[in-house]
Amino acid sequence: MVKAVYPGSFDPVTNGHMDIIKRAARIVDELIIVVSVNSAKNPMFSMDERLQMIGEVTKEIPNVRVMSFEGLTVECARRLGATVIIRGLRAVTDFENEMQLAQTNHYIDSGIDTMFLATGLEYSFLSSTIVKELAYYGSDISRLVPGKVEKMVNDKIKNISSQK
Ligand code: ADP
Repeated sequence: MVKAVYPGSFDPVTNGHMDIIKRAARIVDELIIVVSVNSAKNPMFSMDERLQMIGEVTKEIPNVRVMSFEGLTVECARRLGATVIIRGLRAVTDFENEMQLAQTNHYIDSGIDTMFLATGLEYSFLSSTIVKELAYYGSDISRLVPGKVEKMVNDKIKNISSQK
């Protein structure tokens, strides 16, 4: 039984993330999406909102669950009994950083391997930051995120704008 974690900020979850989630879920027996508490970033969505959002858009995939974690991904994987960390690779620009992370993780625990999935070409430019930027300036994001997430992002932006 292969258990894997897929860590990230998912602020918000995009179709690029969804592509990786669906493909990883076909490879491993259980996939746990780990939403990281990243104090260096100022997220648009709270942890509860991100957990609810990801739970909603992955509810049809039976071997996927979602949780939050603060700390090292390797420590999270170890506690859950997961032996694989899934990461998505968009372009060479991701490579250096991801390679360093994977090697650090392997140094900490050689029993846990990082597995990279190359993104589909159509998502190679896509990031949560791009989605937020486009939505903020009124661009259509319907092809970039699941429908429910599109609504959540647009509602959040309306909310932010009305508070100004
Ligand atoms: P982090 O801040 O940890 O990189 P993200 O939510 O930005 O969190 O990304 C989580 C994971 O998803 C990372 O492995 C990242 O490379 C991958 N990812 C992000 N966007 C895409 C995309 N468009 N296609 C494939 N993988 C992606």
